[in-house]
Amino acid sequence: METTTFGAIAAAGVAAGGIAVCFAGNGEGLLRPPGAADEADFRARCIKCGRCLEACPYQAIRMAKGPTGAETGTPVIDARAQACRLCADFPCIAACPTEALHPVSARDEVRMGCAVINRDLCIAVQGMRCEVCYRACPFIDSAIAIGASVREGDAIHAVFEPLIDPEKCVGCGLCVQRCVVSDPQVAIEIVRDYGEARRRIDEEQAKHVSNPWAG
Ligand code: SF4
Ligand code: SF4
Ligand code: SF4
Repeated sequence: METTTFGAIAAAGVAAGGIAVCFAGNGEGLLRPPGAADEADFRARCIKCGRCLEACPYQAIRMAKGPTGAETGTPVIDARAQACRLCADFPCIAACPTEALHPVSARDEVRMGCAVINRDLCIAVQGMRCEVCYRACPFIDSAIAIGASVREGDAIHAVFEPLIDPEKCVGCGLCVQRCVVSDPQVAIEIVRDYGEARRRIDEEQAKHVSNPWAG
């Protein structure tokens, strides 16, 4: 089973010292705070002290809580509950004593992951005007733009759908937090590995999404 940020996070609860996020995956897909490098680097450095969690003014960082495993007690972000607001001074990174969160010089240099939109679920792809994720993005018209296209077999309705640029998306998750779709799942997820995200975006763009107005 592919592990995703939201697939891995099963439920949220309260634990001593902060809010905990329960997970069922191996941690590879968990969304880490800004400054985290790959999972191996992060796990080797993070001592689970919780200082980043305490430093975050938005309570975006939570404590991973699993039955077993090295991920338990590590800091994670559940973007649907509270995305990273990309504080200009990165208090989470400043608080980290081990450089598990590496210094980042500017907000647009953060690389938490890349947003991938599920075109089967996105209501904009179905033909409705929804620009909620686009409006939520701190890098509007850069990390995310609205693309217009003509629908196959439809002479009347155009499609205005959000398109992610993996070169610019920092993975903050604000689009995920605001997405209006929740059933059966959110229409956007953050994929931590940028190569995997690009592959998934290409796969989504190649999808044929059914046209409810086709006659
Ligand atoms: S940048 Fe700000 S909002 Fe984001 S995790 Fe760090 S402290 Fe929290
Ligand atoms: S401050 Fe650094 S070492 Fe401490 S829990 Fe956060 S990431 Fe891990
Ligand atoms: S994760 Fe979403 S809101 Fe954040 S930069 Fe990427 S597209 Fe924009």
